[in-house]
Amino acid sequence: MKDLFIADLHLNDKQPEIYQRFKFFLDDKARYARALYILGDLFEYYLGDDAKIGVIQQVANDLDELSEKYQTKCYFMAGNRDFLLGQRFNNSLILLEDSTVVELNEKRLILTHADALCTDDVEYQKIRRQLRDSQWQQWFLSQTISERIAFAQKARMQSQQHTQSAESQIMDVNQQAVDDLFDCHHASLMLHGHTHRPGFHQTQTENETRSRMVLGDWHFQSSCIEHFKGNFQLITH
Ligand code: MN
Repeated sequence: MKDLFIADLHLNDKQPEIYQRFKFFLDDKARYARALYILGDLFEYYLGDDAKIGVIQQVANDLDELSEKYQTKCYFMAGNRDFLLGQRFNNSLILLEDSTVVELNEKRLILTHADALCTDDVEYQKIRRQLRDSQWQQWFLSQTISERIAFAQKARMQSQQHTQSAESQIMDVNQQAVDDLFDCHHASLMLHGHTHRPGFHQTQTENETRSRMVLGDWHFQSSCIEHFKGNFQLITH
């Protein structure tokens, strides 16, 4: 059976076509898979487990069905947009910390969303530290849902301005940060999303070949990496 990896769907109520693409994927491939790993930014924004509105509630139900009826193990790692997603989103989901190692075919594979690896973007890393701070999160979740929506809209505008003005190079992962993560986990495989730059990259060290596999986003097509018996394949539809 296959293991499937996806990220960066950025599901939201204004783009129902992305949800349609995801639903097709769930009803097709995902049902027959051993596991589905969602590596962050499943949602465009996520305002707390007490604010499951629209497509968010729908996806919670879909993932319940996938894991209970079809026995596909569903894993979730937060991205920079849905870092507030917790167990109350969906009880059947297995939550993973960022930079988790899983063993597949006796090989160690590092899973990460990868926004933490974009260390050249100093301004973003500052914001990231704030958003991942538990005190800040408590404060945010104590706001009313409409206050949270207003905050998220403002943050999104600022982030878009930043993305447009920042040089494209700094929006990618930093090679040193990648190498350090390989070293730290004693692994030679890594799989991540976030950059929306799908592809496989290999680097050679003294002792080994390292592979970094990058998922694409779902804005215009689906993007998935399939694992079967030690082989990985990037599939777009
Ligand atoms: Mn991201």
